[in-house]
Amino acid sequence: MHAEIVVLPGDGIGPEVTAAAVEVLRAVGYRYGHTFSFDTQLIGGAAIDATGEALPAATLAAAKRADAILLGAVGGPKWSDPKAPVRPEQGLLAIRKALGLYANLRPVTPHPAALGASPIKPHLLTGVDLVVVRELTGGIYFGDKTRDGDSASDLCRYSVTEIERVVRRAAALARSRRGRLTSVDKANVLETSRLWRETATRIVAEEFPDIQLEHQLVDSMAMHLLSRPREYDVIVTENMFGDILTDEASMLAGSLGLLPSASLGDTDGSGRIMGLYEPIHGSAPDIAGRGVANPYATILSAALLLRHSLGLADEAECVEKAVAAALDAGVFTADIAGSGGGVGSRQATDAVIEQLQ
Ligand code: ATP
Ligand code: MG
Repeated sequence: MHAEIVVLPGDGIGPEVTAAAVEVLRAVGYRYGHTFSFDTQLIGGAAIDATGEALPAATLAAAKRADAILLGAVGGPKWSDPKAPVRPEQGLLAIRKALGLYANLRPVTPHPAALGASPIKPHLLTGVDLVVVRELTGGIYFGDKTRDGDSASDLCRYSVTEIERVVRRAAALARSRRGRLTSVDKANVLETSRLWRETATRIVAEEFPDIQLEHQLVDSMAMHLLSRPREYDVIVTENMFGDILTDEASMLAGSLGLLPSASLGDTDGSGRIMGLYEPIHGSAPDIAGRGVANPYATILSAALLLRHSLGLADEAECVEKAVAAALDAGVFTADIAGSGGGVGSRQATDAVIEQLQ
């Protein structure tokens, strides 16, 4: 097949890690006979410097035309003045909104060779393979905000439609995995959570009767995620709960440098899913330009791109296995190796590409 991929390197280590992922995509494309073309565009601080805007119109137009988008990271001290008229992060929020990317997927599969990098006891982590699906464009982060003297409020609102579409996406994912879906809410207290629970129950009963659905309150979820993470397959939840639980879940894998993400929108007429793929880590200005960033999270994000937007499941698995083999072989960057050891981004990328040939 032929696919057009827009690459948004962004700031800090973004350009380094996206370059590594593009090399891997070329290698896996070559192996399976696909041609991928890459169109690099500006976003974040780099875009502000060049155009004054965090999401230039040319970038959004290219993203809308593309089959998928690969992003590095945005932001850094250069653009962090709170009084600045535009901030890099606005570029990311704007592109998610403009493309309707409402479902944020974060797989967490701690690798056996890297368990030591996690603060959680290794015996709890063996066999963990879960995905958190976070609703990304609704809820309290987007509701009306008010300030009245010495009181303030944030409105949390969800519509049935917003809940249905993210639950459908998560249930379909569960169906393609181990068939278990955990819906997380606070239905004992919040009205939005009661609507969430009713809607999730109905959608699964009507459209996914083969899926096993369980409901869990967010406070107990926070506990169980660390005490028995192996029991979970797909976890679906609203925006703010998902924000908190995904950061918690990242600790299961040890390093931020190992965790990919996908932000998905609706399927278009041709069955294609609009998606933006990026590592969960930030721009890491402290290590930018030194060739030491861990490229695995972005390479694994490229694997998600192959699977979800291009429908290339075998190719995605091939990339995931190549990263696992590199980790098995002990090819660790400094964030995993610890105590000043580890290889550079170049050697880590080469180790993955070698597995693909
Ligand atoms: P943001 O606000 O953009 O999310 P952050 O403050 O959460 O950023 P990151 O940029 O993610 O921070 O970096 C947090 C720490 O993790 C830093 O010390 C950084 O160097 C390290 N780090 C992040 N990503 C990587 C990576 N790919 N490889 C190695 N170290 C990394
Ligand atoms: Mg962060």
